[in-house]
Amino acid sequence: MDCIFCKIIDGDIPSAVIYEDEETFAFLDANPVNMGHALVIPKEHHRNILDTPEPVMCEVMRTAKKLTPAIKNAMDAGGVNVTNNNEPAAGQKVFHYHVHIIPRHEGDGFEMWHGDRGYREGEKQEIVEKITNEL
Ligand code: 5GP
Ligand code: ZN
Repeated sequence: MDCIFCKIIDGDIPSAVIYEDEETFAFLDANPVNMGHALVIPKEHHRNILDTPEPVMCEVMRTAKKLTPAIKNAMDAGGVNVTNNNEPAAGQKVFHYHVHIIPRHEGDGFEMWHGDRGYREGEKQEIVEKITNEL
């Protein structure tokens, strides 16, 4: 399969490896938001959160939990964003499930999106129903 992250796991494409175990692999993002920006991926290929089996996601999060304080401390960061993009509409560019660990510094200027539109009367309940109907 022509997947850049599978090639990174196999060592066919070089990467700055931070951590590896049976199920997961972590390395520095080639185009970091801030220094120390890392990606955690499962060794099994899945597209994103929509098709990744729950146990595989749990392993990825276990590794993210291990690495987040290490990255925060090593980069002397004030905070960390642990995030994941799913499908192009949400900004996904590489279609092998991955979690970003991004060290953040006060005033670094990378503003996250903040909504300010609110809900009209009754709209919350409509949306809750739509979502719960899909569960
Ligand atoms: P996405 O937008 O899919 O969540 O993020 C993909 C991330 O993978 C981007 O932050 C991008 O910089 C990183 N990336 C893409 N190709 C490579 C690569 O070949 N090596 C490394 N280390 N990171 C990559
Ligand atoms: Zn892959």
